Amino acid sequence: MRIKMNPIAELDGDEMTRVLWGWIKEELLEPFVELNTEYYDLGLPNRDETGDAVTVQAAEAIRRLGVGVKCATITPNAQRMEEYHLHSQWKSPNATIRAVLDGTVFRTPILTGRIKPYVQGWAKPITIARHAYGDIYKAVEMKIPGPGKAELVFTGENGEQRQEIFTFKGSGILQGMHNRDDSIENFARACFGYALSRGEDLWFSAKDTISKTYDGNFRDIFQRVYDQEYKSAFAEKGISYFYTLIDDAVARVIRSNGGFIWATKNYDGDVMSDMVSTAFGSLAMMTSVLVSPDGCYEYEAAHGTVTRHYYRYQAGETTSTNPVATIFAWSGALRRRGELDGNGELSAFADRLEKATLDTIEAGVMTADLSALCADADVRKADTKAFLKAIRERLET
Ligand code: NAP
Ligand code: MG
Repeated sequence: MRIKMNPIAELDGDEMTRVLWGWIKEELLEPFVELNTEYYDLGLPNRDETGDAVTVQAAEAIRRLGVGVKCATITPNAQRMEEYHLHSQWKSPNATIRAVLDGTVFRTPILTGRIKPYVQGWAKPITIARHAYGDIYKAVEMKIPGPGKAELVFTGENGEQRQEIFTFKGSGILQGMHNRDDSIENFARACFGYALSRGEDLWFSAKDTISKTYDGNFRDIFQRVYDQEYKSAFAEKGISYFYTLIDDAVARVIRSNGGFIWATKNYDGDVMSDMVSTAFGSLAMMTSVLVSPDGCYEYEAAHGTVTRHYYRYQAGETTSTNPVATIFAWSGALRRRGELDGNGELSAFADRLEKATLDTIEAGVMTADLSALCADADVRKADTKAFLKAIRERLET
């Protein structure tokens, strides 16, 4: 008897990950679950054909159904315009979906005993949440040609506020950036909600000693949202929230054993997420969840469409592309669906699927990207299909 479920939004994608998508469904999902999905084809040809309407429809489906799972997709550039004969250079689907859901992205590595993180103490995953609005990403900048006075000027309904920035004696540079209270509040809500759903502590860091008003505002909003909306739920769950200076956070993260969520400002998250994912081992083992402030979840792999492998696959070669992050995107979505509906069988299947995947790697069967990181003598490098078959065998027993 296959497990029944309520619908989730399924967002198909491009290239090698689109191939993996089909294989994972066929080998690891459909034999066990009566998959119930609203299917949206976000492959580049269909985005082009629909004038990218399919991306917005998919985002709205996630909002309606509460849960989505997404395959990696191509963000077109000039070269892709030619390769796919596109009508327009469509925006990144992830940016479009994030805007519709007003979501925050959480990236978490998948750990296995076979791959040692570069930081020896990291026994549990570290999840990074990056605020994806404003600061230098929406800054305006100016080259200053020579002497003169630079000022901040705000013109509001009740008049003007002014402050001198600097009086230049020679040439220089200038930058103006902003953020919005409602965006920071929604970021804070997504972080507190996600910490509760994972049962992990939440850290938030900024540089409020230097940036007393700007970063101080981030700190204060987090504290207010926490006190007013989440404090008692955190106490019930036995988890904690704390704010610390970014320098202190970096030092603590390195000394930690992992197992917490680190919320960061936009730039800090951009930089730190690359550092943390590299230190844990492989991009192919990084999962990503987009969480909206009202609790809709979209799961995906953090990596892209693995283009180079796809060209080899098209040429008839067998590739050893790692499907683990994409498998975990599915298991994450199924578990969430199960939790929302009280469908224990479905959540238990998600746990079994993840365990079978990790046990396969522990047994020494893994794709080339992982075997290259693992010096153990008993490791067997498998191509993607053989790896999926090995997981299936474990699932069946
Ligand atoms: P990528 O697809 O993540 O691949 C970069 C390299 O990392 C690959 O060439 C491969 O190295 C390795 N790699 C990544 N995932 C792997 C996996 N599952 N198994 C084995 N190796 C893996 O990034 P990219 O080449 O920069 O981007 C390709 C396309 O993906 C672009 O069109 C981009 O727009 C898109 N993209 C989409 C998303 C998304 O939808 N979330 C995110 C990033 C990029 P080797 O070739 O050396 O084996
Ligand atoms: Mg980055």
